Amino acid sequence: MNILSNLLSKASPDFPVMDRPRKRVRGVELKNEAELAIMRQAARIVATVLKEISEQVRPGMTTADLDAYAEQRIRALGAKPSFKNYHGFPGSICACINDEVVHGIPRRRKVIRAGDVLKVDTGAYYEGFHGDSCITIAVGTIKPAAQALIQAAESALYAGIEQVKPGNTLLDIAGAIEDSVQASGFSVVEEFTGHGVGRNLHEPPSVFNFRTRQLPNLKLQTGMTLAIEPILNAGSRHTKTLSDRWTVVTVDRSLSAQFEHTVLVTESGYEILTDRTLV
Ligand code: MG
Ligand code: MG
Repeated sequence: MNILSNLLSKASPDFPVMDRPRKRVRGVELKNEAELAIMRQAARIVATVLKEISEQVRPGMTTADLDAYAEQRIRALGAKPSFKNYHGFPGSICACINDEVVHGIPRRRKVIRAGDVLKVDTGAYYEGFHGDSCITIAVGTIKPAAQALIQAAESALYAGIEQVKPGNTLLDIAGAIEDSVQASGFSVVEEFTGHGVGRNLHEPPSVFNFRTRQLPNLKLQTGMTLAIEPILNAGSRHTKTLSDRWTVVTVDRSLSAQFEHTVLVTESGYEILTDRTLV
């Protein structure tokens, strides 16, 4: 998500209103056990769909094929696609190939080929709560440099997740991601951030992927649910948006990779709600 849509994000009219007072810290909602039980299910649906897509994607499929599959599976599992019609986005997944960074619109003419670096990001809205996750898939055999980028992106995500525990701050997450990316020799995109996730797909706080003074350096507390989602580019960190007003690409056309998990702050550390190894 970008910083602008973070500011614009608000509850949609079909969100169920819960009567009980919500516990918030500096605008960040702390979920209780009943809410977390639902969120785990939303996140599990996301993990299931992404795992299935990663196992089934083949050269010759289109990104529209993956979108249709994801929508059908999310609905069959009892949820709604979080992304569909969000700020007008037409798909149930964002599908990005190679130099596409984020917000790729699924299209019939976008054919997936062997050697591609494919990113699939999706969300599920289940009984009032969202899960959000993204994976990067190597399609067939890819170049070693592309594989290194994918591994660095996943390592950066886990470096950030390892910092999630009560008492640590958003800057601990941001710093760990920045250091991990720097050690890999790739660059981290700055225009797009992670975010709180729960009743809304995007809610406070913004979870930056690099050290910045723009960051309200919130202290993490048990019950916060964060989507952590660093984006790494093989070349320049800079991006531009195409004329479709959605698809963001690297300015130098270098490869881009991203992983994202929805993560709960627990009393002892973290729980990865969108963990695909549990589905
Ligand atoms: Mg996402
Ligand atoms: Mg997200």
